[in-house]
Amino acid sequence: MKQPISLIFISLIILSLIIGCGGTNKSFNVFPVSKDVELGSQVANSIDEQNKKQLLDSQSNVAIYKYIYSVRDSILKNNTLDHSKDFAWRIRIIANDSVLNAFCTPGGYIYFYTGILKYLESEDQLAGVMGHEMAHAEKRHSTDAMTRQYGVGILMDLAFGQGKGQLARIAGNIAELGYGRDAEKESDEYSVRWLYNTSYYAAGASGFFQKMENTGGGARMPEFLSTHPNPTNRIAEMKKLWQSLGGKPGKTYQERYTAFVKTLPKQ
Ligand SMILES: [Zn+2]
Repeated sequence: MKQPISLIFISLIILSLIIGCGGTNKSFNVFPVSKDVELGSQVANSIDEQNKKQLLDSQSNVAIYKYIYSVRDSILKNNTLDHSKDFAWRIRIIANDSVLNAFCTPGGYIYFYTGILKYLESEDQLAGVMGHEMAHAEKRHSTDAMTRQYGVGILMDLAFGQGKGQLARIAGNIAELGYGRDAEKESDEYSVRWLYNTSYYAAGASGFFQKMENTGGGARMPEFLSTHPNPTNRIAEMKKLWQSLGGKPGKTYQERYTAFVKTLPKQ
């Protein structure tokens, strides 16, 4: 079928922009913010569908979701996020104790497996991991990575109105597999910065990395470690940033976290 000449023209212009920027300009993102929202909703629908049987229903697990949303709210209420209003910031828990992972789609659909919730030991660790995941959405690491890794092909698909499903699949894969070193570093940084404005110990996520290092994650290596062979550096970086912000001790809320974990379904 003959493509309209204007579409070809526009896509060539955008193509030259992508090639011009290459992967060197970190902030270059070819997608509008509305695409993060649209893609996120598609990815979340497909994840929900794939995990239908394991997804903890928010209607019948009210206390569990109330607790986990309260952690999210302390991050959102005490910080100014660019996308606090236009992203979903929805949380879903997948009942699978063998998966040590959490991830966030574009547009702020956050997922925790019961495996990681039971592995974490205190609420500041949960808040730290959540802050890290939320930063991936807030800083638009998915569409940023797609622009860098898949830019040309995806753009041609988009320009000619094809490959929408493929786009959502790629976004989903990136969310689960990791975004690359720079993005992980930025997410670690925002996790500490955001938690610093709450009552939590701001380097909460470092407690998780410490446990991973002590006990080993093996095949259960989560997304946020996948692109980092050395968690020791991340622990040190997070603590350094916490110190530079003033080193406020903050709280771990270990007891109430242990109580929360006991309410999670047994696998
Ligand atoms: Zn990450």
